[in-house]
Amino acid sequence: MTDPVRQQGVGEPDDLDRLWTPHRMAYIRGENKPTDESTGECPFCQVPTMDDEYGLVVHRGELAYVVLNLYPYSPGHLMVCPYRHVADYTEITDAEVVELADLTRTAMRVIRSVSGAGGFNLGMNQGAIAGAGIAAHLHQHVVPRWPGDQNFMPIIGRTKTLPELLSDTRALLAEAWKNS
Ligand SMILES: [Zn+2]
Repeated sequence: MTDPVRQQGVGEPDDLDRLWTPHRMAYIRGENKPTDESTGECPFCQVPTMDDEYGLVVHRGELAYVVLNLYPYSPGHLMVCPYRHVADYTEITDAEVVELADLTRTAMRVIRSVSGAGGFNLGMNQGAIAGAGIAAHLHQHVVPRWPGDQNFMPIIGRTKTLPELLSDTRALLAEAWKNS
């Protein structure tokens, strides 16, 4: 009969890498979630008043700006937002439509140039019922995708993703945007 196994220190590696996404926990807890739909409570109205580093702003256009998602689905997840506090796509002006589209297109090019993303999900959730976290202020998601980036990763892929610190990602994308 052998002695019971005692685990020492951090234990034995189990060949399963961990994917830590602590930033998602803040989202799950509802941090920064506005309590009403006013401009003063709106994070997408507040971001442009911050400096680029603190606000995670990648690019400022004339009518819209590009910002890193604080709770990214994948590294490099950007959002294109009009400066104006408008909720619905039908409310934005022709000029805003054009700039949103143009910034979305450039965002794809910039992300590709720095990360070689294999694909993208582009989209706007219109209304809380459709999944918009901040329904009161329109935002276009630009989510880069890589093969096997999310699905079954820890189980099948045994792949460790290393989500960069958001500040590093912002600096990388902002620099690439200047050269785009
Ligand atoms: Zn707003």
